Amino acid sequence: MSLTIQSPFKPLFDALVLSVLLAGGVAALAAAIGLPGVRIATFFAVNVCAVLAFQVFSGNSGIVSFGHTAFMGVAAYVSAWITMPPNMLTLNLPNLPSWLGGYELSLPAALFVVALVGATMALISGLGISRLNGASGAIATLGFGIIVYSVLAAAVDFTRGNQAFFGVPRYTDVYVATGAACLFILVARLFRESRHGLMLRAARDDEAAASALGVWPYKARLVAWIVSGVMASIAGALYGHMLGAFSPRDFYLATTFGFVAMLILGGMGTVTGAVGGVVLVMGIREVLQRFEGGAVIAGIELPDLFGLQVLGVSLAMLAVLKFRRSGLCGRNELASNLPWPARIPVDPAPAGAHAADTAATLQIKDVSKSFSGLVALDTVTFDVPKGIVTGLIGPNGAGKSTLVNAIGGASKATSGGVWLQGARIDSEPPYRVSALGVGRTFQNIRLFTELTVEENVVVAGLARGLSMRRAREVAARELSLMGIAEDAARRAGELSYGSRRRLEIARAMAQAPSFLMLDEPAAGMNTAETTDLGNRLRDIAATRGIGLLLIDHDLNFVMRLCHRVVVLNRGILIADGSPEEVQKDPAVVESYLGTRASQAGLHAAQAPQEV
Ligand code: ADP
Ligand code: MG
Repeated sequence: MSLTIQSPFKPLFDALVLSVLLAGGVAALAAAIGLPGVRIATFFAVNVCAVLAFQVFSGNSGIVSFGHTAFMGVAAYVSAWITMPPNMLTLNLPNLPSWLGGYELSLPAALFVVALVGATMALISGLGISRLNGASGAIATLGFGIIVYSVLAAAVDFTRGNQAFFGVPRYTDVYVATGAACLFILVARLFRESRHGLMLRAARDDEAAASALGVWPYKARLVAWIVSGVMASIAGALYGHMLGAFSPRDFYLATTFGFVAMLILGGMGTVTGAVGGVVLVMGIREVLQRFEGGAVIAGIELPDLFGLQVLGVSLAMLAVLKFRRSGLCGRNELASNLPWPARIPVDPAPAGAHAADTAATLQIKDVSKSFSGLVALDTVTFDVPKGIVTGLIGPNGAGKSTLVNAIGGASKATSGGVWLQGARIDSEPPYRVSALGVGRTFQNIRLFTELTVEENVVVAGLARGLSMRRAREVAARELSLMGIAEDAARRAGELSYGSRRRLEIARAMAQAPSFLMLDEPAAGMNTAETTDLGNRLRDIAATRGIGLLLIDHDLNFVMRLCHRVVVLNRGILIADGSPEEVQKDPAVVESYLGTRASQAGLHAAQAPQEV
């Protein structure tokens, strides 16, 4: 059996097309307007390098970076020191320690050194910055940029402060810049599809869900920060060798905002968008520049319009933010919509994979949780065995989801603990709990909406250390088992409600969990969908030996599926037994079943039945 998916060669195709367009554009500019064209083209290609460095971090993490120009600035100076002849360097910087420069290195050698410096700088800064996401992350990058600028401007012996540093070898000609830009396109495009890129994009779409699948968002951001830091360093060195003379201000806010504008205008989520953004912003600037110093249009003489370029770019940004948030180039890479399918084999279901340790249990001991006075869980104790379906029911607000969060590490129990095979897991972060074999789904579906259906599931395999190839095979299997294989290439956000629920379960299954907690998986489904889901879940529990903890409000569904049912009411465990026992329990009838059972038309007890 095999499954039709999007071809894995699409990224290479994209990189090739973009590179050809870029090289063609450069050649056309040079041919059309000669030397000024060559200069614009070189500047354009270097900008593409810089913006792609931003894109690798910002596009995949969703955190707008204002800090990458810091790498560029440091790299420009370092590269200048090590490539300049000693006498020229001494003329600029008489107090620079002699071991730091004057080596007259070639450009490739200098770029190698600069990449190492950039990686070190990114590792150190990233240890802190990667802890944050969203707006706090963006502000941290801005802080980083400002600090590095201040150091560069103050370190007069190393940079000449705000005076121009001159005589830097002009190594960056149009060929070097274009070559580098093509290479950067390839790297950025491949990074986006790489395991790190994919896990980071998952965390961007939903950090809680990614963590629950075993993705460590901190590490995912750190990796991207380092890769993009190295890219920004190389771009900065190229920028310096293009300018020939510069000061720290060339790597400060005005430049940063220029790059950010390019990224946002084109669309930071894609490599195509980043490259498109450079074309757009440079185009707007080139056109408006002609009107800045006054012009004559249809016989009318315009006055000098200072700041027209900035105004034009700002208005374009505002328009994009209002009307097309994903940027002018949209959310798709070039090849995304091409009908170019590939087939991958479906991994056969691992029958009885966990049969060896069916004795293992997930033990919940005296778990309490209060939210500023409100007791959501009160010394709850029960075991979830492997290989069977344990139901967890109770009225709204009983504390069921709170318990799932406490077990999964999403929030910490106030007291008590959770043990898995004798090891305590409740103080572990979600990605560790997941790695230890406990999976979950969410009451309010949490998918990676910008990723494809297949990618959603692949992420789970990658997070537990599978190779990309294996992860895709496993994903194909889980999608087929949940009956949503035909949707593999669609964006998860486009799925129908029932399919989303099933995708969430397929994704959790790709984690190969020993225990899986399903928080209301049938909520919102119709009867046919619910029955279908029930059959699939029972198969899963039976064939793979997984311990399922099933929360649902549909009592027919729960009673039909579960071997055992636990009842919570106002945070207190009021019953624990077989479905028949629980339904007869007076406390349960009084607090919950009395009303619900009659609503659900459930009168006679129904034991778990085989299908
Ligand atoms: P259930 O899933 O059984 O419907 P929950 O676990 O969601 O119930 O909620 C149990 C109780 O805890 C409710 O009273 C709810 O209002 C409260 N609660 C849940 N999460 C929070 C939170 N993050 N902050 C404050 N109160 C919460
Ligand atoms: Mg709930």
